[in-house]
Amino acid sequence: MKYDVIIIGAGPGGIFSAYELMQKRPDLKVAVFEAGQSLEKRKCPIDGDKVKSCIRCKTCAIMNGFGGAGAFSDGKYNITNDFGGTLYEYIGKEKAIKLMEYVDGINMAHGGEGTKMYSTAGSEFKKICMQNKLTLLNASVRHLGTDINYVVLENLYAEMKDAMDFYFMTPVRSIEALEEGYRVHYDNGQADCTCCIVSVGRSGSKWMEETCRSMNIPTCSNRVDLGVRVELPAAIFSHLTDQLYESKIVYRTEKFEDNVRTFCMNPHGIVVNENTNGIVTVNGHSFEDPAKKTDNTNFALLVSKHFSEPFRDSNGYGESIARLSNMLGGGVIVQRFGDLERGRRSNRKRIEEGTVRPTLDATPGDLSLVLPKRILDGIIEMIYALDRIAPGTANDDTLLYGVEVKFYNMEVKLDENLESNYHNLFIIGDGSGVTHSLSHASASGVYVAGKVMERL
Ligand SMILES: Cc1cc2nc3c(=O)[nH]c(=O)nc-3n(C[C@H](O)[C@H](O)[C@H](O)COP(=O)(O)OP(=O)(O)OC[C@H]3O[C@@H](n4cnc5c(N)ncnc54)[C@H](O)[C@@H]3O)c2cc1C
Repeated sequence: MKYDVIIIGAGPGGIFSAYELMQKRPDLKVAVFEAGQSLEKRKCPIDGDKVKSCIRCKTCAIMNGFGGAGAFSDGKYNITNDFGGTLYEYIGKEKAIKLMEYVDGINMAHGGEGTKMYSTAGSEFKKICMQNKLTLLNASVRHLGTDINYVVLENLYAEMKDAMDFYFMTPVRSIEALEEGYRVHYDNGQADCTCCIVSVGRSGSKWMEETCRSMNIPTCSNRVDLGVRVELPAAIFSHLTDQLYESKIVYRTEKFEDNVRTFCMNPHGIVVNENTNGIVTVNGHSFEDPAKKTDNTNFALLVSKHFSEPFRDSNGYGESIARLSNMLGGGVIVQRFGDLERGRRSNRKRIEEGTVRPTLDATPGDLSLVLPKRILDGIIEMIYALDRIAPGTANDDTLLYGVEVKFYNMEVKLDENLESNYHNLFIIGDGSGVTHSLSHASASGVYVAGKVMERL
């Protein structure tokens, strides 16, 4: 089989590369190889009844398949260079924003129209945050919601499926550089192409590392973010979430001068389990559908850990801490803030008596046995800092779920075309270590499609 372009991975990065090529160069023969299922077959067996926890499926329906890790996400497309990746360092700030807006336009044309765009521009909260030693980062946020995000993916797939070849449940095992182009090897065969776009996301991080090692593609080690997910009554944060939806707030701790930041805010949302390489961590969602809204808001508080030589395995460090919480709690641990402050484990009775109804059935426990002191101290300081702009955040009944871990791929050395040291081998999205978000990953896909079209 010979293609002009092979795309490895059908997450946002891969999808937007493929979509752009289909739109602008329908003459090109394109194939997309994806380790997971097509969208409609992606079903996590955890139903809270018969299957309560992860049964380690061959491919994780949450992380793999058409739509990638973002398929069941909250669908928050943050249009900003302030967070979500460092795409701008490769392609320039203006171009990066333009591409994110372009992606937004495509989402709007495929079922996203009518969803709200929030913005921090001109918000009075910037000043209030500053007065309380907090920094509100700049962003425009398109909130599709888990339900509309799914509809957009369905519509994109419907348009793309006959214009190119999709190979689902077909993980690519290796890439071979040919004299002209590349050969990708999978379990039952191989396919050749002139240009190859690799977009394997976070779930493909180990494969990406191996591929870079075997092909001598230079990389550098990266970071891991660790913390908890906070759940509290939606009313406490409503003044912020009604206006901004998602506020990315950074606090510099007094004790260690570490930065703690809010991440992935879900007004009226739910807290969920996330499975990464068999380790259960915590995350959050919210829905556009009013019927699915809860009385709670959740968000993560994260601290970034960067490591220096000789230690390179930042993800391994994060995994070990997550494993510790899984060992103690059988999965995710939940603790009342009041119990954490009093140095005692939470139990079901105290949580049931509390005023915040948990939206995830997690094991009551003690997060101080899991998270390193420095990280936990930073989180506690930030909760009190947030309490000054959203009184009630530091209430005893505020729930903390742990651990939340954001794994990052090691950064692959790429040039301004997002091209590796191999001609016509492009590496994009979260798998490249350059992006960590839907908007940046999608934008990197559109960008590289442009580069491919220049070559073919
Ligand atoms: C629960 C959850 C909620 C999130 N919410 C948000 C949010 O609201 N906003 C936001 O900006 N970001 C969010 N994110 C992050 C966001 O989903 C990712 O940044 C984004 O999906 C990255 O896109 P990608 O295409 O680079 O990689 P991915 O989406 O990870 O897609 C990579 C794809 O490649 C496939 N693959 C991997 N290895 C191979 C291989 N060897 N061969 C073939 N296929 C392979 C995988 O199966 C996967 O489908 C969330 C993530 C999760 C898990």
